[in-house]
Amino acid sequence: MTSQPDQTVRWRESDTAHHLHPFTDYKGLAEEGGSRIITHADGVHLTDSEGRRILDAMAGLWCVNVGYGRPELAQAAYDQMLQLPYYNAFFKTATPPSIELAAKLAELTPKGLDRAFFGSSGSDANDTMVRMVRHFWALKGQPEKTVFLSRVHAYHGSTMASASLGGQAAMHGQGGLPLPGFEHVMPPYWFDYGGELSPATFGEAAAQAVEDKILSIGPENVAAFVGEPLQGAGGVIIPPETYWPRVQDICRKYDVLLIVDEVITGFGRTGHWFASEYYGLEPDLMILAKGITSGYLPLSAVMVGPRVADTLIAEGGEFFHGFTYSGHPVACAVALENLAILEREQLVEKVRDDTGPYLARRLAELRDHPIVGEVRSLGLVGAVELCADPATRRHFEPLGKAGTICRDHCFASDVILRAVRDAMIVSPPLTFERTHIDQMVDT
Ligand code: PLP
Repeated sequence: MTSQPDQTVRWRESDTAHHLHPFTDYKGLAEEGGSRIITHADGVHLTDSEGRRILDAMAGLWCVNVGYGRPELAQAAYDQMLQLPYYNAFFKTATPPSIELAAKLAELTPKGLDRAFFGSSGSDANDTMVRMVRHFWALKGQPEKTVFLSRVHAYHGSTMASASLGGQAAMHGQGGLPLPGFEHVMPPYWFDYGGELSPATFGEAAAQAVEDKILSIGPENVAAFVGEPLQGAGGVIIPPETYWPRVQDICRKYDVLLIVDEVITGFGRTGHWFASEYYGLEPDLMILAKGITSGYLPLSAVMVGPRVADTLIAEGGEFFHGFTYSGHPVACAVALENLAILEREQLVEKVRDDTGPYLARRLAELRDHPIVGEVRSLGLVGAVELCADPATRRHFEPLGKAGTICRDHCFASDVILRAVRDAMIVSPPLTFERTHIDQMVDT
């Protein structure tokens, strides 16, 4: 369906009049003439209300891993809705899809993460994790272990706890964040923080900053270190190889839980089922959302390893926490079919062996461009860092303007990618072919 032009105008007017969008400058959007209305999608393309096809190099919001228009997922939702559209797991009940999905996630995720607590978003999963971890330490007789340590530029969600956990300065500027008990350290972001150090040496320095912070807070007060294996919404900050092994050792040394937020990196994004495999991480807990259903329905999971789970189960009594939609059967049924597609079509392997290396090669061609300071990628997530002087890594001023211009150019050219400060970000569906990568890089 291509909509009539006057329908598009009516939608825009109504959108401006009634709809408060997330992460949006409302006045600015209205002044620019309102939203581009997306009416449908297939494969790796969106279609807007004026009939233009747009290449989606962001997989929605880093989530549509298997691409758009999958009849199998629609069928799974339809079948489950007819059979049992809703029931919960609160009062000694459970549903087959939630049981099967918990077991499937236990099989797919790294060893030990054998139990799943379901929610509906990455944000609520992080809130669940915060409550569960503090409850755990209280059960262990160390109730003072309450502080969560994360990184500047981290993104863990928009609720009060998850935004406190995140390290987004703009978010902390609104609504009284961060809450007490959330501390942030330097990110392993060589381009901005590395100075004269080699990436490898800088990776060690960034890990050392974690140790220094734990010592300054007092290890007896630190509940957990929480990190995205690579920082997605913060600008696809890919840590040097030296970073994670040291951070993992530091967490063990001070008895601080290691928690990885794989909301973006999970389900094949990096060419591995989970980026923890790539970095050799053995986390105590793992946060999952987005690619778990490829965004077709809202679903999240906190995967819990034996250390926390055994205590919670043996000593915790009732865990006073949960959501109406925890383990929603339709979302879980869609997740199971989504995971089956990833396996059947070997999409993780495709990213690891073919399209991931191809993206890296094509991005590398931009390295010599006069305003490109760095390119980085892992699997099908990447960044092109624009700057005024690549030799010194000096940014354009004001920071963010070049990125916005470049992103808007791509949007007008029917390619969606994202700008974080002046880093151009791509995170396409895992079904992206080489020709799509070519079109994206050429644009
Ligand atoms: N964690 C990470 C790493 C994310 O990238 C996001 C969202 O982008 C979230 C958590 C929050 O997820 P949601 O938007 O589903 O609440």
